[in-house]
Amino acid sequence: MQKNDIVVVTIEDMGTDGEGIGKVDGYTLFIKDAVIGDVVEAKVMKAKKSYGYARLMHIISPSEFRVDPKCPVARQCGGCQVQVLSYERQLVFKNEKVLNNLMRIGGIPEEVLARIMEPICGMDKPFRYRNKAQFPIGTDKEGNLIAGFYAGRTHSIIPCKDCLLGVEVNAQILDIILGFMKEFGIRPYDEERHDGLVRHVLIRTGFTTKEIMVCIVINGKSLPHGEALAGRLAKIPGMTSITLSVNRDKTNVIMGNEIVPLWGETYITDYIGDVKYQISPLSFYQVNPVQTEKLYKTALHYAGLTGKETVWDLYCGIGTISLFLAQNAKQVYGVEIVPQAIDDAKNNACINEIENAEFYVGKAEEVLPGYYKKYAEEHPGENAHADVIVVDPPRKGCEESLLRTMVDMKPERIVYVSCDSATLARDVKFLRGNGYELQKVKAVDMFPHTGHVETVVLMSGKDVIKYQV
Ligand code: SAH
Repeated sequence: MQKNDIVVVTIEDMGTDGEGIGKVDGYTLFIKDAVIGDVVEAKVMKAKKSYGYARLMHIISPSEFRVDPKCPVARQCGGCQVQVLSYERQLVFKNEKVLNNLMRIGGIPEEVLARIMEPICGMDKPFRYRNKAQFPIGTDKEGNLIAGFYAGRTHSIIPCKDCLLGVEVNAQILDIILGFMKEFGIRPYDEERHDGLVRHVLIRTGFTTKEIMVCIVINGKSLPHGEALAGRLAKIPGMTSITLSVNRDKTNVIMGNEIVPLWGETYITDYIGDVKYQISPLSFYQVNPVQTEKLYKTALHYAGLTGKETVWDLYCGIGTISLFLAQNAKQVYGVEIVPQAIDDAKNNACINEIENAEFYVGKAEEVLPGYYKKYAEEHPGENAHADVIVVDPPRKGCEESLLRTMVDMKPERIVYVSCDSATLARDVKFLRGNGYELQKVKAVDMFPHTGHVETVVLMSGKDVIKYQV
């Protein structure tokens, strides 16, 4: 196979990012935008020894699972990798991804997984689920102001004010901002020349409270005629916070650290379940609140709390899971590497009058082993114990040193929330080799139309329960 070869391929499988996979005379090709069941004509773009990447040119016969994308820019934008796959089939794809990783990497027999895997939790309405959007602002070739999304892996802006994963009010807000910029001659930021003012617009909506936040990221200290813009935006029902974020650096990082109030509050409030959160422009907050609640309820259910337990929540972010758990536990300890997130976590504990949650800044793989060691020094002959340990690490999963300390603390249950089932499966394998067994698995679709899937699993000490579901 060579670059620029044109081939006909039947798509037989899908890769981790939702790309189609097919074979031509035993040679494997990965083809973005092709879905399982399609027969396509594709052009080879990159050819390695035993596999290559090809570009979808033409669909010869569409898969029975193929649907028309709702979004007109689905293919260029790259934010949705599998929008052309029916939603039911997306869920099958995601569940199989988790199952295959637990089988191949985790070493769990298929018949065991068939017994312990709960059905994947999908959305009833898999569009307009995101409470946050960040739009880059720029100009098109004719010099007209545009807002949209970066085309996959580039910095050219695809104009799109109404991403169908986001809320409808986004388009109205962007129209007001672009109209204002045109009227007052305010220029968008030009990345190459590092001049111009308006870089990005961040919009967040509280799905429960209906409060709206707009934060305009600027390459400057202030926005000329900012009060005129604020006056127009403030008329939108629910508008609660309008701020500027100062970012004068030559960087891909969107937000600047300095937040300047323009109108209203500097944060919005929202709820997940009964727990209230204050969210500032710089706070991390889950983007799909509907599915987050389902995910956390599953984690809470798996934790099996009665009110007497000591629980650790590692990688706790702004304490979302910790505060959920604290309502049913004796004491919760949260650990997170980002200091501002811990400030938010403490504040959120306070506004919810939750007094049994304590938070520590640091790396989970340093804080927990450090605590374990210190405990042993201060209590000769004893070891620190936890009843339940919850982890929700980033994609790379947990370090082995952390997993070892978790095992040493002899928790009855470990609840592992994961955004990458491959590293989850690796860590599950380690824990299985060290006295724990997988009891339950549930995949949750937090990001419909993308290739991502979240998973939550329950592991228990082998002598405690054995495959009881
Ligand atoms: N459970 C939280 C967030 C989980 S995302 C929630 O639901 O809101 C993973 C978190 O792990 C991020 O907040 C990230 O900042 C943090 N993190 C990354 N590496 C870490 C480490 N080594 N130790 C502790 N926290 C870490």
